[in-house]
Amino acid sequence: MTFRLYDTATREVRDFVPLEEGKAGVYVCGLTVQSEPHVGHVRSGVDFDVLQRWLRHLGYDVTFIRNVTDIDDKILMKSADQGLRWYELVARMKRQLDQAYDALNVAPPTYEPAATGHVPEMIVLIQELIAKGHAYAAEDGSGDVYFDVRSWPQYGELTHQRIDDMEAAEDADPRGKRDPRDFALWKGWKKESEPETAAWPSPWGPGRPGWHIECSAMAGKYLGPAFDIHGGGVDLRFPHHENEQAQSRAAGRPFASYWMHNAWITTAGEKMSKSLGNSLTIPAVLQKYRGIELRYYLVAAHYRSHVEFSFEALDEAAVGFRRIESFLERAGTVEPGELPEAFVAAMNDDLGTPAALAVLFDVVRAGNRADDPTPQAAQVLAMLDVLGLNPADPAWGPASSDDQRLTDAVDVLVRGLLEQRTRARADKDFATADAIRDQIKAAGIAITDTPDGPTWSLEAGTK
Ligand SMILES: [Zn+2]
Repeated sequence: MTFRLYDTATREVRDFVPLEEGKAGVYVCGLTVQSEPHVGHVRSGVDFDVLQRWLRHLGYDVTFIRNVTDIDDKILMKSADQGLRWYELVARMKRQLDQAYDALNVAPPTYEPAATGHVPEMIVLIQELIAKGHAYAAEDGSGDVYFDVRSWPQYGELTHQRIDDMEAAEDADPRGKRDPRDFALWKGWKKESEPETAAWPSPWGPGRPGWHIECSAMAGKYLGPAFDIHGGGVDLRFPHHENEQAQSRAAGRPFASYWMHNAWITTAGEKMSKSLGNSLTIPAVLQKYRGIELRYYLVAAHYRSHVEFSFEALDEAAVGFRRIESFLERAGTVEPGELPEAFVAAMNDDLGTPAALAVLFDVVRAGNRADDPTPQAAQVLAMLDVLGLNPADPAWGPASSDDQRLTDAVDVLVRGLLEQRTRARADKDFATADAIRDQIKAAGIAITDTPDGPTWSLEAGTK
């Protein structure tokens, strides 16, 4: 059975045929780290995590790249508003994003390149485009460099648009452009309004990369000139992905074989936005729901279906997920078994998670009727596992039985040492008593004497 996926470039469901047998190269556009992540931001991370896990399950050796855009107009504006250096804002928001992905059990990508770490690769690509006659430096002294859309007849092929129907690219002062649709590859430094730290040296003067060139350069560096799947949110199709493809192919790089786009999470029919307030940020939602419940809610929708967010729907999903968990609890300890064929077929059909979860619930129901639910529980666990939803996965945090056993073992050892110290003191052998105390302290354990005898805890501030 082959994995089939809907390719948004050809608008067809196609068999997945990788460039190199047994390997899969995937590039997903990550977030611009400029504000606290909310539910709408993390959908793409979760959806493409499911893709990554499914490809690995199918036996592919996956190289999965998810980049970070860590310099752009919004970052410069927001950091200035908040009185922060732009890279301070980036560092803070990146940390929050990492925590959000961890809380949702989104596996880390193979590499997570940041745009500012790849300026030399971008400059090389821009130089190639200029040399081939597809890009030009603006003649207005701005230091901008643009892609010449009229020089590339295939411009518009990804999103099936004719160039004359397209809107102007509003990414730079249009004065220096040959065509209003030409987009910026490089943005000259604006001395009056932009910090010096946000400008890098280049053949066209100090400046910073345009957004689109980042992804072409980073995909090229980590996946080579041609790779299998390019993913991202559906709002990135135009202009971002159209431009990525145009500039890569114009430079002679075949670029992605398949394009996958996840749909939006909407509120009142609109793309979820920051203006809705803070109730939808990941930390706020995680105060009311467990990470596994939020992930289940996101995975339960097909990645190409728009999700109208509501707390009622999230409540319902959480209740549904707890039904699965209580079935597993009743079944007791089991090892993950084989995936049901119908589940595999659903996942192979363009990651059909709703149909896959319908199979899962059928198995739960059968297990609830069975005298011995072990075989069903083993299947359910295997299905949850491949979706990143296994409740026993240590990724969901502490309180696993292994942690408890470790604590119990340390307790036995520390108590033994404390008894030896007490005996040494009683014998007035202070050298031995002190040596034992130092040994415990060196292990990062603090001892507190209480009326009931000494107790121990991990010293504050140690790993
Ligand atoms: Zn991108």
